[in-house]
Amino acid sequence: MSLIVQKFGGTSVADAERIARCAGRAVRAKESGKQVVVVVSARGHRTDELIDLAKSVCDNPPPREMSMLLATGEQESIALMAMAIHQLGHEAVSQTGGQIGLVTESVFTKAKIKSIDASRVRKELDKGRIVIVAGFQGVTETGEITTLGRGASDTTAVALASVLGAEVCEIYTDVDGVYTADPRVVPKARKIRQISYTEMLEMASLGAGVMHNRSIMFGMKYKVPIHVRSSFTDTPGTMITEEQAMMENIVVTGATVAKHLARFILLGVPHRPGMAAKVFEALTRKNIIVDDIVQSAFQPGNAQMTFTVSKDDRNATQVALDELNAEIGFEKIIVDESIAKVSVVGVGMRSHSGVAERMFRALSSAGINIEMITTSEIKISTLIAEAEADKALRVVHEAFELDKEPANGH
Ligand code: ADP
Ligand code: ASP
Ligand code: MG
Repeated sequence: MSLIVQKFGGTSVADAERIARCAGRAVRAKESGKQVVVVVSARGHRTDELIDLAKSVCDNPPPREMSMLLATGEQESIALMAMAIHQLGHEAVSQTGGQIGLVTESVFTKAKIKSIDASRVRKELDKGRIVIVAGFQGVTETGEITTLGRGASDTTAVALASVLGAEVCEIYTDVDGVYTADPRVVPKARKIRQISYTEMLEMASLGAGVMHNRSIMFGMKYKVPIHVRSSFTDTPGTMITEEQAMMENIVVTGATVAKHLARFILLGVPHRPGMAAKVFEALTRKNIIVDDIVQSAFQPGNAQMTFTVSKDDRNATQVALDELNAEIGFEKIIVDESIAKVSVVGVGMRSHSGVAERMFRALSSAGINIEMITTSEIKISTLIAEAEADKALRVVHEAFELDKEPANGH
């Protein structure tokens, strides 16, 4: 029997009426003869509210307790969704991350999935039930509750779809697909019909909040098609699939903006082997994920190192560097929190030239200064002032005419 996973995001399950609507979708899929697994997020702004509440009782909440608290948001949703399905005359059973054997590393608040015990979900499905799973959470090998990072219910859904061999993982959200840029910032953004895992992974990692980036890694590895679509309409959304030959014809597929970044500039780093390793070892020990790294040395014995981290990790990064500074002795540590990153992504960049020039020219004609540039095979990123981020995204979107449907593509 074919199996599908349907994931409903926060806005889609914000109130009773919306929960009932999503329950209806799950029931329709079940009645069409499929086995159905539903993954849900916390309702509306529940996670943000819980974070604010935590911060109002403690300046620096212990990550273990933070995961314990945030996991309750999803737990509320699974029970309500199971009840709504019951109301429609079908059998459903709610399951926490721990109950489906979703085991993670023992890092609280940004844990990575280690394994999922597919047999537990299968046993429930075989009883003819719709299984409702709490997104965003798991347990460590010793049974501690962990959470997988903001927006990570997508990852629970795609990981489950992977281990269960689902025919598709449907991501129901408040937009009707993946757009060429965040439609809230760029009103002219266009819905992309089909996008490759590699491009979507880059876009998600570079700020396209519509999908959690690790979910795409699961989809790519296990070749699960992901359908991003609206929970409010029946319009087909965006298919995230393997790359197809025609995709290379399109130079730029999408543009993104990432805010909430902090840039660290280390001046006067002793220019000798092992320094970069020391700096990043210190950050890894604190589970800090480092974004772009640039190092250059143009004075003898003296190097400059720049990297970006999420603003959430700003304090932990500062502490790690201060500890290291006592040992190494940098000349200066500068922190800049007023930056943002605007990027363009597309597999077509592999075979087309002039993309960087077009992007830089567009930014310069809008009077936007570029602080730092980083590239990979399929993306170009620029660090700019945060105050100009949205304008920069619109300018770049316009420069690559992303609002126009490509003649031969997605
Ligand atoms: P959910 O709660 O359903 O997981 P999210 O808020 O996490 O929903 O993701 C949906 C939002 O992602 C949209 O409302 C949109 O503003 C934002 N977004 C950012 N970049 C994009 C993009 N390229 N395409 C579509 N939506 C995007
Ligand atoms: N509720 C979690 C969050 O808001 C997970 C998710 O929505 O995907 O980050
Ligand atoms: Mg989301």
